[in-house]
Amino acid sequence: MLPRCFVLGIALALLAEAQTQVKQGEVLRVTSGGSTAQVLEKTIRLFPQPGSRNLGLMPISVTQAPGKYTVIVRDSHGSKVGDIPIEVVDARYPRQNIAASKAMKSLTPLPGEMEAVRALNNTVSEKRMWVEPFQTPTSDCMNSLFGVMRYHNGKPTGNFHRGVDLRSPMGRPVHAISPGIVRISQMFRLHGGMIGIDHGQGMASTYLHMSKLAVPEGTVVKAGDVVGYVGATGFATGPHLHWGLYVNGVPVNPSQWIPGVPRCQ
Ligand SMILES: [Zn+2]
Repeated sequence: MLPRCFVLGIALALLAEAQTQVKQGEVLRVTSGGSTAQVLEKTIRLFPQPGSRNLGLMPISVTQAPGKYTVIVRDSHGSKVGDIPIEVVDARYPRQNIAASKAMKSLTPLPGEMEAVRALNNTVSEKRMWVEPFQTPTSDCMNSLFGVMRYHNGKPTGNFHRGVDLRSPMGRPVHAISPGIVRISQMFRLHGGMIGIDHGQGMASTYLHMSKLAVPEGTVVKAGDVVGYVGATGFATGPHLHWGLYVNGVPVNPSQWIPGVPRCQ
């Protein structure tokens, strides 16, 4: 479902108490006069937007059980100003086996690597830099989708694919999906050559396994700027671009934000 539909869905929900549907791994846009929104233990901030109501991005985890939930909207004093009933729908993510070599399985992150990635994913900066529509980082087809339950050599890993893999050849330029600030530009051991961009108000994108990085940390980028080049560094079986989208700390489906990218045949 396109993001536009969620906006409409929320508007309908407020008017008619209709149930808004959102799939596992997708983002619910909460537009309201409120300051925060909460589903179960997850609370997000809503930010003023020019010429419209406040907007918050509520991520629905891949692991969230399907069913009916309530989004509670509160004002800046913590008083409840509204309820939005939602239904989380099973996205039916498939399984995929990865033939991991011994060398790959024994890869360990660099000291501070996981912490740096986690810090980026949980960054909620005040200024909105992200602008729609997003641009695809390379123009290639997808050979692994978001949300796929990962098996290594036939054994469940308990993990799922936290981004999209594009079948991009070695050395192809990788472009920023939207404006932002480069917070990570590192040759990591597990993530490989990685760029992480903060797009503001809880949105971040990551680009992994690159052979070469094109921008240092702190660079302000525009949509389409080259941030690095495709590679096979880190936990990768061959050249490809893995890119991911994080909303308020949760990995979400990039295909909701950049629809129409074909699957490889
Ligand atoms: Zn991947």
